[in-house]
Amino acid sequence: MTGARNSAVGEQGATRAPAPSTARPKSKASAKKAAARPESRLAMVRRARRINRELAEVYPYAHPELDFRNPFELLVATVLSAQTTDLRVNQTTPALFAKYPTPEDMAEAAPEELEEIIRPTGFFRMKAKSLLGLSAALRDDFGGEVPGRLEDLVTLPGVGRKTAHVVLGNAFGVPGITVDTHFGRLVRRWKWTEETDPVKVEAEISAIFPKSEWTMLSHRVIFHGRRICHAQKPACGACPIAPLCPAYGEGETDPDKARKLLKYEMGGYPGQRLNPPPDYPGRPAPPLGANGSTNA
Ligand code: SF4
Repeated sequence: MTGARNSAVGEQGATRAPAPSTARPKSKASAKKAAARPESRLAMVRRARRINRELAEVYPYAHPELDFRNPFELLVATVLSAQTTDLRVNQTTPALFAKYPTPEDMAEAAPEELEEIIRPTGFFRMKAKSLLGLSAALRDDFGGEVPGRLEDLVTLPGVGRKTAHVVLGNAFGVPGITVDTHFGRLVRRWKWTEETDPVKVEAEISAIFPKSEWTMLSHRVIFHGRRICHAQKPACGACPIAPLCPAYGEGETDPDKARKLLKYEMGGYPGQRLNPPPDYPGRPAPPLGANGSTNA
């Protein structure tokens, strides 16, 4: 969708932002007709794939939003990301990895020192326990390396399927669908599935797309959920895929008001990563404690 990547400048000087949707999803008559006729499986699959293609044009730079330099850092960062933002994790991990760069180092950490460093991410006692346990398991059972297989990863303390897929997809190039809160919300809004159980959602969505798309699809959908299709106030009036969305109108439809709801690079704010990939069009996130409006 060419209109999705335009030169519109966001509130605070974004370099790239989505076009406010000028296309109405459907005329009243055709919307009524379409509503009366349930969408076939084939039509839904075609629409889903088209949404994916359009999101690929809107977010050609979609990527994992955790900073990491190796599989161990990604694993630890993903465990820390439970119940907090990727931004907060990214602001916390530089000090953590400076002190404990390897599983061997982290396995030997004094629990209270580890807890103090990761405190900003919340639930720090439980997370410290997971990090100590998984570091010891990596050291003792996997030769100090993060394993590249789902069945091994999920045996590590604090590591479930979601974490395992993030690590496999982004550190090992193994295709996987990451069903987080954004992904689940959006695919239900788009009527790709009605399931709420993440394992069932994963199974249904993986049947719609070829394996080669799974990892990037996950990034694009999560990017869209964080920037435009928010849980509380989706910015429908500024959404480039509005014509394909059955939930259009669930959020703000006025283009000017909707544009004000956009987040991160779409709204001209810093992103979540302190070290984003070179093609990221937004600004890097500020370090912990630094001044910097993030609208996270
Ligand atoms: S609910 Fe609104 S913001 Fe979300 S995808 Fe649909 S049109 Fe876009």
